Order: sequence, then C-alpha cells, then structure tokens
Amino acid sequence: MVKVSFLGIGLMGLPMAQRLIGAGYSVTAYNRTATKLEKLSEVVNPKGSIAIAHTPAEAIAASDCIVLMLTDAQAIRDVLHQADLSDRTIIQMSTISPDESREICREVMAAGGAYLEAPVLGSIPEAKSGKLIVMVGAEPEQFEQWKPLLQTLGENPVLIGSVGSAATVKLALNQLIGSLTSAFAASLGLVLRQNVDVEAFMQIVRQSALYAPTFDKKLQRMIDRDFEHPNFPTKHLQKDMNLFVETAKSSNLDTASIEGVQQILQTAIDRNLADLDYAALFSVIVPEESKIH
Ligand code: NAP
Repeated sequence: MVKVSFLGIGLMGLPMAQRLIGAGYSVTAYNRTATKLEKLSEVVNPKGSIAIAHTPAEAIAASDCIVLMLTDAQAIRDVLHQADLSDRTIIQMSTISPDESREICREVMAAGGAYLEAPVLGSIPEAKSGKLIVMVGAEPEQFEQWKPLLQTLGENPVLIGSVGSAATVKLALNQLIGSLTSAFAASLGLVLRQNVDVEAFMQIVRQSALYAPTFDKKLQRMIDRDFEHPNFPTKHLQKDMNLFVETAKSSNLDTASIEGVQQILQTAIDRNLADLDYAALFSVIVPEESKIH
C-alpha cells in the first residue's frame, strides 16, 4: 500500500482522507484538534489503513508523500516548520495566494523537499464522491507522478502550470463565489422586498445568460435564512476574498467592486456569522425587516 500522511482533518480534509483510505492508501493522519480524527475510520469497505500521528513531525516522518488541507499559509508554516522535510513531497491543497504558495515552495525546496500546489474547487459532497476539480501547479513530471493520488480526489486533475498558477486560478474562482453570491443576494432581496413572486423571478433568471447554478444552490438557504451546517464557512470566503484583493492590487487591478463584498463579509463576521455557510452574507445585504430601525 502507498503511504501518505494527511495533515488537516477539517471539513474538507476528513472526506478527502477518507477517499484515500477507501482507495487503498495507507494514511497517517494528523489534526491539531485530535477529536476530529475520530470520524476518520467511518469508511465503507476501506482498502487502505489508518494510523494517527500526535504531532506534525510524527506525521511527516511517517510517509514520503505529505498532503496538506489546512486553513491558510500560517497553518501550513506552523506544521512544516516543526519537521524534517528532506526527501518529502508536499502536496499543498489548501487555498492560499500564489505568492504564499511560491514562498512555501522555496522554503520546502531549501529544506530538501519537493512541493506541488493542488487547490480544489468543490466542497464536502464533491470531496466525498471524488469529484473535486483539482488544479495543479507543479513541474510536468511531478504532475504525472502524483496524478493517480490526485485522481482519487478528483477524476480529472488539471496541470495549470508552475507553482503559483493553480493558486491564481483558485483565487480567481473564489472571487466569483463571493461576487456572484452577493450579487444574487441583492437581486433576490429586492424581489422579496417588492413582494414579487420569487419563482417567477427565478424562471426568468434560469433562462437567461445571467444564470449561475450556484443561485439555485443557495436560494432556499437564503429564503429560509438557514445558514447552519456549512460546507464552506463565511470566514474562509473572507480569507479568500482578502487574498484575491491583495493579489489583484499587486497585479494593478481596480478592486472597488470586490472591496464592497469584503465589507459585507466583514459585517457578517462582526455579526458572529463566521462559522456559518457563506450564504449568510444574504442576511447582511437583506436584513430582517424587524431588525431595520
Ligand atoms: P476547516 O474545517 O476550518 O479546517 C482547517 C484545518 O486546518 C483544520 O484541520 C485545523 O485544525 C487546521 N489548522 C488551522 N490552523 C492550524 C494550525 N495553526 N496548526 C495546525 N493545524 C491548523 O477548513 P476546510 O473547509 O476544511 O478548508 C481547508 C482549506 O481548504 C482552506 O484553505 C479552505 O479555504 C479550502 N477549501 C475549502 C472548501 C470548502 O468547501 N470547505 C473548498 C475548497 C477549498 P483544527 O481542527 O485543530 O482547527
């Protein structure tokens, strides 16, 4: 069995590590909060095996291949700086900026390791079913070497280019999540406030070039104001919009419209919506009438 260490058994890391175990990998898992490791063994007909590491260094010592699914660049540095990286390949799958990814790549290589970035589009359901869209920034030989592992997580991993390129595409996509969702929330809010039939509005939108499937995915949550059990929490969308604005500014783009979405997300965080589904930005854009003074 091929040995892999997986660091970060969070919302996404859990189903991703479970896919690897299900597919026959021998997975050594580490999570800072150890209780989250308890669900790892809930895999139907596992072909692989599970071992638990109590520290990042122990996890990184256990396998040549190290998969990371952590919050951000700080978390990645926190785990990598504790370990000997010589002859290790780090497959970094979290959402971070291209500059952060290139810098971490340099640090890993200076410590004698190899580095690929492989951020993903899709959420918990896609992670469970192995249907994530995996974007890879790496050398072509590295991509070929690790393709079978990445195919366990997403059928068609795509080599975008060198390190930084896949992180760029991932940020470009997540900017769309924030901007499309806030734009839809405002239009839906207007329709609701003006007492227009929502289904009549949706039927027109669905037929139009303006439609994005994410509108229907978030419609019911917004109408019900039900943002519990998130797949992708507001705090991570805020992280990604902040990374986008920072990277876009350094690329000489005007980010005015996206800064508006940043403000909405900050208000959502201030209202304790950080751990709820990001569709919660609807409740900032369309406050409950009883709460309008
Ligand atoms: P999550 O549930 O918050 O998991 C984050 C993981 O990082 C947890 O295992 C957490 O450990 C760990 N962590 C954070 N800071 C750490 C530190 N300083 N040292 C060690 N471990 C640390 O987030 P997620 O939704 O799985 O997302 C993970 C990454 O994938 C993020 O970059 C996110 O933007 C990206 N992503 C998420 C989705 C999605 O739909 N959720 C989709 C695509 C990409 P603890 O359990 O101890 O907190």
